[in-house]
Amino acid sequence: MKSRASPPCPFAALKAATEAQVVKTHFLKVGFCVLLWYFIGKMGLLDLIFPKSCVACGKIGSYLCEQDRKKIKAAATFCPVCLKGAVGGTTHERCKSKLSLDGLVCLFSYTTPIKEIIHELKYRFVKDLLITVEKEIKKAEILETIDFRSFTLAPIPLSSSRKNWRGFNQAEALGNVVARRLKIPIDSETLKKIKETKPQAKLPRKERLRQARGIFRAISDISGCDFIVFDDVWTTGATMKAASAALKRRGAEKVWGLALASSH
Ligand SMILES: [Zn+2]
Ligand SMILES: [Zn+2]
Repeated sequence: MKSRASPPCPFAALKAATEAQVVKTHFLKVGFCVLLWYFIGKMGLLDLIFPKSCVACGKIGSYLCEQDRKKIKAAATFCPVCLKGAVGGTTHERCKSKLSLDGLVCLFSYTTPIKEIIHELKYRFVKDLLITVEKEIKKAEILETIDFRSFTLAPIPLSSSRKNWRGFNQAEALGNVVARRLKIPIDSETLKKIKETKPQAKLPRKERLRQARGIFRAISDISGCDFIVFDDVWTTGATMKAASAALKRRGAEKVWGLALASSH
């Protein structure tokens, strides 16, 4: 049996008005906080509340103190296949194969303070730190020695779930800086990650190489195009090699690897 509709509560209108008032007050409070935060930021007061400190030694003042900045070391150039020394990072003729990288440029050695900077950027995005890195990239002489004008930079993609979790792709953010430096376009669409992988840092070398196979795919025909695959750190090279193979399978002409740092 249908129950009889209860008569409208005489306080319903008053209740709605009170709720509207509560919402209005809430928005005013939030608006005030946003404005306050904006002015604090504008006036540089944030530095007083959260002072910048050096990522390597903790000294207050900037994200990278002058002493640690001087410790940044250029990486050695080596062949990405046999890992032995190679002029300009070009893959030795004898080491080249159909899908291999044609060369590799690592900008800095993966030691203090680059190690700390990369770690910091990975887990806590700090814009000022990216600006610091950009200054160092601009000075990197190795980028003068190779003609990359015909290349497009493809950052190593993260899987969409990991990208959402962190909110941004570090390789893409750093890749933008490098592409600006080389005056070449960046393309984050062609190279896609198609397989979920465990975080590489915890895996032994053999497992990394096995896991990286077939994790990328190029989603369009890129016949005759030259690419630079960019990643933050070169460790075993497994990721970049897999990216190179994926691009070459879809017709890429030349593929170079470029890493901010090398732990080789
Ligand atoms: Zn320092
Ligand atoms: Zn070689």
